[in-house]
Amino acid sequence: MTRKKINVTKPFLPPLDEFTPLLEQIWSSGILTNGGPMHQQLEEALCEHLGVKYLSLFANGTIALVTALKALRITGEVITTPYSFVATSHSLLWNDIEPVFVDIEPDTLNIDPNSIERAITSRTSAILPVHCYGNPCAVDQIEEIASNYNLKVVYDAAHAFGVECHCGSLLKHGDLSVLSFHATKVFNTLEGGAIICPDANTKRHIDNLKNFGFVDETTIVAAGINGKMNEIQAAMGLLQLNYIDDLLLERKKIDKRYRDALSVVDGIHALPSGPQEKANYAYFPILIEDSYPLTRDQLYAYLKEHGIYARRYFYPLISEFPMYRSGNSARSDNLPVAHNAASRIICLPIYPGLSESDQSLIVSLL
Ligand SMILES: *Cc1c(COP(=O)(O)O)cnc(C)c1O
Repeated sequence: MTRKKINVTKPFLPPLDEFTPLLEQIWSSGILTNGGPMHQQLEEALCEHLGVKYLSLFANGTIALVTALKALRITGEVITTPYSFVATSHSLLWNDIEPVFVDIEPDTLNIDPNSIERAITSRTSAILPVHCYGNPCAVDQIEEIASNYNLKVVYDAAHAFGVECHCGSLLKHGDLSVLSFHATKVFNTLEGGAIICPDANTKRHIDNLKNFGFVDETTIVAAGINGKMNEIQAAMGLLQLNYIDDLLLERKKIDKRYRDALSVVDGIHALPSGPQEKANYAYFPILIEDSYPLTRDQLYAYLKEHGIYARRYFYPLISEFPMYRSGNSARSDNLPVAHNAASRIICLPIYPGLSESDQSLIVSLL
């Protein structure tokens, strides 16, 4: 018997017959990239949808992160979290910046603001926190530290599409915020990403950087890169936007079903799903406690045997990878909360289209 495979996530694909007319427009215009009409429309539509003033689209989230750090001329050391996808720290190495890892908070698994201050040295120029699983970082405390020590803040907001907190869009915090629109994220453009910019000048600078540094046909102002989003990616984004509200509602229902069903299971602790104002239910992370009959890895294997491909986001920690582990801040005694979480975490399948019966199967296995 071939068993059905249920992955942790599944990209949302809009109906193909809605994509065709957009492809026909692209074909007839002959404009495939370089900030064409689809790109223009998606930037405007996303600003409107997210409640931000300026945004620059990118080919993917990682190149957006690399460019955001470059745009702010960040150098030396940057304080960041080991509990993230590896692209967070890789963006520092691509800028010759030294990552300095600090521990995370046990309730949200976001960077612990109380550890940031102790890690600041004369070489520190910025903080790179992650809104892990779309749960907001302690943005007010981080901003206060940054302003006291004259540091920049770049948020890796790859998980935080559409999340709102007490002061509106979460993406307005920090000097820059970076989104990912990878196929596995809540909102996708196949591959893609964006930088949220605070003002028109910053956006112009970033638009130049993502286009080799060109400001006009013959003038180059910086050693830019090619980070441009193409027209087909942008068209995909425009279509997805028509569905995003319904998709988030569906995620919310799945989140609630898990939360209700698992609240009675001893040894499973579900992490919070995000702010009261607006969460995006991008992930369903649970921590496996000592009182659970299986270890996390035994549970992971058991689910897999039954066709459920849950994921251990984030294990191993970034600080354990070969290009990071020799750093002084990567020592495990510097990161006890992160190590504990990485050994207990498992993210359950959550995506629009996950059926109630599949979800019931997952819950009954747990
Ligand atoms: C997905 C992700 C990225 C990278 O985004 P890509 O669009 O895949 O390049 C960066 N940081 C975090 C936390 C992510 O989850």
